[in-house]
Amino acid sequence: MDGYVEPMMLIGGEWTRGSGAPDPILDPATEERIGSVPHATDEEIDAALAAAQAGFETWRKLSPNERAKVMLGAADLLRDRSEEIARMLSLEQGKPLGEARIEVVRAASLIEWDANEGRRVYGRILPGDGVANNFVIRQPIGVVAGFSPWNLPVTSATRKIGGALAAGCAIIIKGAEETPASVAALVRCFADSGLPSGVINLLFGHPPQISERLIASPVVRLLTFTGSIPVGKHLAQLCGRHMKPAIMELGGHSPVIVCDDVDIARAAQASAAAKFRNAGQICIAPTRFIVQEDAYDRFVETFVEKAEGLKLGKGLEPGTQMGPLANDRRLAAMEALVTDARSHGATVAAGGERRSNSGYFFAPTVLVDVPAEAKAMNEEPFGPVALISRFSTLDDAIGEANRLSYGLASYAFTNSAETADLLAREVQCGIMTINHFTGVPPEGPFGGVKESGYGREGGSESLESFLVSKFVSHRLA
Ligand code: NAD
Repeated sequence: MDGYVEPMMLIGGEWTRGSGAPDPILDPATEERIGSVPHATDEEIDAALAAAQAGFETWRKLSPNERAKVMLGAADLLRDRSEEIARMLSLEQGKPLGEARIEVVRAASLIEWDANEGRRVYGRILPGDGVANNFVIRQPIGVVAGFSPWNLPVTSATRKIGGALAAGCAIIIKGAEETPASVAALVRCFADSGLPSGVINLLFGHPPQISERLIASPVVRLLTFTGSIPVGKHLAQLCGRHMKPAIMELGGHSPVIVCDDVDIARAAQASAAAKFRNAGQICIAPTRFIVQEDAYDRFVETFVEKAEGLKLGKGLEPGTQMGPLANDRRLAAMEALVTDARSHGATVAAGGERRSNSGYFFAPTVLVDVPAEAKAMNEEPFGPVALISRFSTLDDAIGEANRLSYGLASYAFTNSAETADLLAREVQCGIMTINHFTGVPPEGPFGGVKESGYGREGGSESLESFLVSKFVSHRLA
């Protein structure tokens, strides 16, 4: 595609293709090569560490206003360049161009939120004892290592960069190798807005090599990771070995409790639209639709109709409503989940198979009557697979919602204030929306409970993990 910029790494203010052997980048809609992603060597990882340490010393000494100015400049550039970045994102990730545009513009809002939060990092004065004045000051934790995934490459990297920079930290970010150009374009907005060199360093390469080297380095003081639970657990263990804190944004298996007191057709249409956004590859994607008995048939019928009517295609093609999966691993995972569900007696009410012989297209899929033992009812599909089941009492619905070790997002549809209140209190999750699927705005905290992780990105909590509190007692004379 014209305008697809071959991604580079940023180390100490220098853009480089690095010296490791590059890997091809594939268009998931055609499986054709569209570019190549650099691979950092150990020496380049060490250079990024040294640059980040130096960048931190410069950045932490700037005032919050000076830091906010640079960050807001980056947000402006991101908005100015949003069309070209969205096109690269759509091409390398597969999502429809409209969704890519929303992602890029949303990233600009996230940067703006964090930039302004950086101005509100308050310490406190403690009651004195007449002899000494006692304070708490809040300081940046140091150099951060960030790992962002391929499903929302721009917003996920932004949340890590925004929090770190607003708190006065420097960051080494490893973008996902499958979607590197959009992340590199995001980082370029910061570099072009006058960020001192070394404050952001961008690497690509072999993930275990980079994470192990960064976490073991005394330079890195915090890890922030978005990805799967198994990789999150592995990285948390490495952090424990080196006594480093971490923010973990991991997977979900979001329940949607649909009560029979709502407009069922509307709830089903909204549910299907949310399920198939980004081809289901979103950690807060709704997955287990738990529908009250009387409304079940109507809900399934409308949901299936909507799923079957979706137009699949290349992300850049006008009219595309759902793109391909981002990589062949997801395609294989969907096929395995559907085969397993069928073998347990589930009914495929829509889709259930690959579409087209080239590209990673998988049909929007609806499974009903899926036994709890089937893999799909227990493992995050991270793809376009919806599971619909019935409930009779609210206690049953809450029990099903809380059955798994995931606890990221949950959803409910009800017109009863009492039921809404009960569900908001009883469902175990970090995010709950009722009667809609709009994502968490910049001013809301994003994160999970249970195995979905810990720490929050966004909201007034955004900078918490990037700061340390220091007690200072000052005896006068
Ligand atoms: P994966 O588990 O191999 O990788 C997940 C992410 O972690 C990728 O971005 C990968 O580059 C990174 N990663 C893997 N090993 C790493 C290591 N040792 N050090 C640092 N980073 C490492 O799986 P995948 O096939 O890329 O993705 C599939 C699964 O990942 C999905 O089933 C989903 O559960 C999860 N996922 C979650 C999110 C999210 O937003 N929470 C995003 C992407 C993927």
